[in-house]
Amino acid sequence: MIPVKLEDVSKVYPGGAAAVRDVNLTIGAGEFFTLLGPSGCGKTTTLRMIAGFTLPSSGRIWFGDRDVTRVPPNERDTGMVFQNYALFPHMTVFENVAFGLRVRRLPKDEIRRRVEEALAQVHLAGLGSRRVDQLSGGQQQRVALARALVIRPKVLLLDEPLSNLDAKLREETRSEIRRLQRELGITAIYVTHDQAEAMAISDRIAVMEGGRVHQVGTPQEIYHRPATRFVATFIGKSNLLEGVLTRVEGNTGWVRVGEWEVGVHLHRRNPGVEPRPGRRVLLSIRPEGLQPASDQEHANVLVGTVERVEFGGAYTEYTVAAGSLKVMAAIAAADGDLRRVGDPLRLYVPPERIFLVE
Ligand code: ATP
Repeated sequence: MIPVKLEDVSKVYPGGAAAVRDVNLTIGAGEFFTLLGPSGCGKTTTLRMIAGFTLPSSGRIWFGDRDVTRVPPNERDTGMVFQNYALFPHMTVFENVAFGLRVRRLPKDEIRRRVEEALAQVHLAGLGSRRVDQLSGGQQQRVALARALVIRPKVLLLDEPLSNLDAKLREETRSEIRRLQRELGITAIYVTHDQAEAMAISDRIAVMEGGRVHQVGTPQEIYHRPATRFVATFIGKSNLLEGVLTRVEGNTGWVRVGEWEVGVHLHRRNPGVEPRPGRRVLLSIRPEGLQPASDQEHANVLVGTVERVEFGGAYTEYTVAAGSLKVMAAIAAADGDLRRVGDPLRLYVPPERIFLVE
């Protein structure tokens, strides 16, 4: 198990703009770490620099205390899994998995033993003699995983490995990858544009956009304490409300949002947001933070009219208009009482469900 560190890493492709800018990351030994962001944000370029396929324009990459910035890929001790599997279609499963060991000139017996062990790890024992083009997509991705693991890499790199699988198989394979990574205690770096996948599988996530890292944190931190407007919108759904901080009373700040005055807990803010009356602020409230108000609640209550109803099973999502404000509320189905378009709805948001983003 080794940690991976990126120090001020940037990449400018010849004739292009910067694809990755000043990225600093420390990935812990044995951690499952995800680079998450929309298409073109620089996550693949970052992964390829860690793998050694792409040379950084500046900065350094460390595996433990070894500077690998200029070390060729085959000398880095990494295993890589790609979106399109990148297997040899005319070869058998066994030959595909054995490939890296043959290149390393291991004795025949050991190759056989290790390939069988790797196939058992990915639940493909007994399929060694099949041709790869006779396997399903999910099975092919397991072969690719076995091929990456058989060389016992120090770092496992995965570039959108589930993109070509259907939804159900994606979830199965995802928990399979996570189980193996935990069992083997290997450091894993995973690239995806799918925020739900990233939240489900990762110890920590780096959210990227425009070649930069916006935030690094656990899925919970990123969801509940988004560092930027981009993170708040990219991860899950969020009501982003612009307002002005009018008063500060102890630990509570009062924010005017349109005609609504709402109390917030001042410790629930990004460090850069100093709590000074008169300051413009951006509030993030997740849709499940807004719930039907009881008769006892008077502060932090928003009275509006239902504009849209979308039944989603466990939750029903409402768009509620209150004066110039429009908010999304996700109300648990257990609440029972389904509202219709045009119904009045009183919503309450507890101060601890509000986060000051900017
Ligand atoms: P995707 O999910 O679409 O692959 P990504 O987040 O992985 O996107 P990158 O593939 O790292 O993003 O690309 C980042 C930027 O660098 C993009 O603007 C892309 O067009 C550019 N880029 C990537 N590879 C090259 C290359 N070989 N030459 C020139 N520009 C490149």
